[in-house]
Amino acid sequence: MSEGPKAPADTLTRRHVLFAGSSALALTACAVARASLSRMPALAATASLHPKRHPEVGTFGFDVDGMDRSVAPGDDFVRYAVGKWIDTTEIPPDRSSWGSVAIIQRQTSARVRALMEEVARASAPEGSDNRKIADYFTSFMDAVRIERLGSSPLLPELHAIAAIETHTELSSALGASLRSDVDVLNLGVFYTPRIMGLWVAEDLDDSARYRPYLLQGGLGMPDREYFLGSSPHYAQLRTRYQAHIATMLRLAGFTAPEARATRVIALETALAKAHVPVGDTVDVTKANTVWLRPELAAKAPGLEWTAFLTAAGLNDQPRFGAWQPSALAGISRLTASEPLPAWKDYLAFHAIENAAPFLSKPFADEHFTFNGHAVSGTPRQPERWKRGVDHTSEALGEAIGKLYVERYFPPAARAQAEGMASNVLRAFAARLDRLDWMGAETKAEAKKKLANFRVMVGYPDRWRDYSGLEIVRGDAYGNRVRATLFEYRRSVSKLGRPVDRSEWLMTPQTVNALFAPSQNSITLPAAILAPTFFDPKADAAVNYGALGAGLGHEVTHGFDDNGALFDANGNLRNWWSRADMDHFKAEAKKLADQYSAYQPLPGLHIDGGQTSTENIADLGGLATAWDAYQLSLQGRPAPMIEGFTPKQRFFLGFAQNYRATFRPAALRRQIVTDILTPAPYRILTVRNLDAWYSAFDVRPGQKLYLAPDRRVKIW
Ligand SMILES: [Zn+2]
Repeated sequence: MSEGPKAPADTLTRRHVLFAGSSALALTACAVARASLSRMPALAATASLHPKRHPEVGTFGFDVDGMDRSVAPGDDFVRYAVGKWIDTTEIPPDRSSWGSVAIIQRQTSARVRALMEEVARASAPEGSDNRKIADYFTSFMDAVRIERLGSSPLLPELHAIAAIETHTELSSALGASLRSDVDVLNLGVFYTPRIMGLWVAEDLDDSARYRPYLLQGGLGMPDREYFLGSSPHYAQLRTRYQAHIATMLRLAGFTAPEARATRVIALETALAKAHVPVGDTVDVTKANTVWLRPELAAKAPGLEWTAFLTAAGLNDQPRFGAWQPSALAGISRLTASEPLPAWKDYLAFHAIENAAPFLSKPFADEHFTFNGHAVSGTPRQPERWKRGVDHTSEALGEAIGKLYVERYFPPAARAQAEGMASNVLRAFAARLDRLDWMGAETKAEAKKKLANFRVMVGYPDRWRDYSGLEIVRGDAYGNRVRATLFEYRRSVSKLGRPVDRSEWLMTPQTVNALFAPSQNSITLPAAILAPTFFDPKADAAVNYGALGAGLGHEVTHGFDDNGALFDANGNLRNWWSRADMDHFKAEAKKLADQYSAYQPLPGLHIDGGQTSTENIADLGGLATAWDAYQLSLQGRPAPMIEGFTPKQRFFLGFAQNYRATFRPAALRRQIVTDILTPAPYRILTVRNLDAWYSAFDVRPGQKLYLAPDRRVKIW
């Protein structure tokens, strides 16, 4: 994604991704954009992962130098485990926080950049994936040619818009603009600047088949609030947006750009009024509306649906998911009620806006000044090569992923992580069996669901086929258009075929993880399988404390109050009994009270309610990972390493994976707005595990001690 606007409710977008940060695609983009942070003071701290090898277990894989052993673990476990790392780590000047995920992202970015430059230097055969990567990247990097072309690559599109004379032609043009650019449930992406977003995904009532979902879209700012909100911040952005629209139209040679901008913003404000708020969009229980093809004209009058769907390649579909029915009806109505000239100005502006990052400097700069700087607060436009890496990754993600894993993720590492995943699933099954609070019926459903769980590790078994994608050297904008259309047609072609459960929704070079509720699957891309999360050469205790607990965290989400909505087959059906839900909520309250007592900044406590779901997942994940580690030992004793017992190393591995340091403003923002507890406080999950008390000899009277009856056990 370019620096286009992103959905604002970022706390909600990460519902099914493991780490804070926006959508997965955006995360890749951000990671790539940070590739040049090469002289970071924190590098010293990263590099100090203990290098000593041990005959039985390989490297320890834990940063002993980052500990502060002057404090007792029972008094301040965060300090004990990662205190010196926090003391010696400087936050990079352009970042507001720094920690494990950011460090992995930086490393991945550097690798992806190097791979792409290597491919660009080599001369791969015509038609090969590598040639496409090279040509896409090189075309974008050819700034001289792009300057010379000015707005000319866009002119055919603008002429076509100018030629629209009827409502039917307008409906056609709107339909032709659709792309597959949203994914609410898995990636948390629900913003599209196009009039509607298409998402081809499992039918909520029958996960064995696909349903084409239509989502609200069409706004040039991230959300309806930007158009309707009364705060001075939004009011100021609206003024800037109007000026931005006029500037873009003027750059493209339109007459009367101010008057046109006024019409565009009025139209978008009407669209915004039709939109539903983010909270409704992410509530899947409100999204399961099916409109049959013959009903469209009655359910959502206004659009000429036949023209719209024909242009979108969807006219033969018998049924559609209307994700936000009232919004779709409102948008459809506006296509008929608003004057055609306003729609033509609207289409022209959006065509320019979409193309701008691939056009000459005045377009690209103006695009960034509004979308990147004014809306998103990014201080500077990323350097050209970073944008080039981003755009190429977006167009040819799996082709690049293939190169990435060939170089950095050997099959042996994959097999090892898969083995860990299978132990985590076995351990969770055993914990389900032992649960005394869950009723027999709910438990039977849970076991059925767990049996259908899959963990996809590293990279897909079958790589995406890019042979139908034409990339032309020297045609940066044309390449972009063909790549998004190629992706759209790939999505549409899935309709009517059985669901492909082997498809990957994240590229291997994405530093994140994903839980897909309709598939009961967890995706762990190769890039996240790096220290401190996972190190194939490291001690198993450390790996289970880190990756094992992260995996366990994701697994529990399949069974908690969110997971309760999707059954064993991934269909939308709540399978929890009332009594079980009541018990769950009562235990959740106890854990919430525990977290609410933490005070990271003077006067500012963690909100245990807001972070409840994630804290429960941390707790269940850590407990499950500990059991899984035991399973991995198969009764064999594990040795001491560097004077630490296996149990101690397990908890140290967990702690190290959540080491992080914040600027106060960033810490405040996360506490106030986020559903995740700030990383260092996630470490305190350990207080609820009996094994932690025996591991570090934690006794009554120590600051972190909890009496056994106050330790919360949910899973
Ligand atoms: Zn989570």
